[in-house]
Amino acid sequence: MASGTRSQGAKEFAYCPYSKFRVGAALLAHDGTVFTGCNVENASYNLGLCAERTTIAKAVSEGYRRFKTIAIASDLEDQFISPCGGCRQFMREFGDQWSVYLSKPDGSYVEMTVGELLPVSFGPEDLKKKTMLTTQNGS
Ligand SMILES: [Zn+2]
Repeated sequence: MASGTRSQGAKEFAYCPYSKFRVGAALLAHDGTVFTGCNVENASYNLGLCAERTTIAKAVSEGYRRFKTIAIASDLEDQFISPCGGCRQFMREFGDQWSVYLSKPDGSYVEMTVGELLPVSFGPEDLKKKTMLTTQNGS
């Protein structure tokens, strides 16, 4: 899993002065291009970005929307790093059948699909299914 090594490397750039919780991610696009990213925190805490969303935003902003895998790395030695709920939804935007590698620093990992991490999800296809509803007051 080459992208696992890349996610470990991306973690080195984590900007996390508040949590001290370093996370890196490496995203493999359909054509083999790899994008990497890290968490980017902010003094206004809720503006912080997770590594996964940083990485996906980098790829999308360069014209990529089809992904094969994303590997996530942290410093947790006894636990596979798992993406937060917001990042699961962010991944889901680009499909639910691509792979997520939850890794440990020793290189071991668990592979799951986006759909397994976010079952019964809401995605872009659902917006196309919307139907017009008539409410009781006619509006
Ligand atoms: Zn997240």
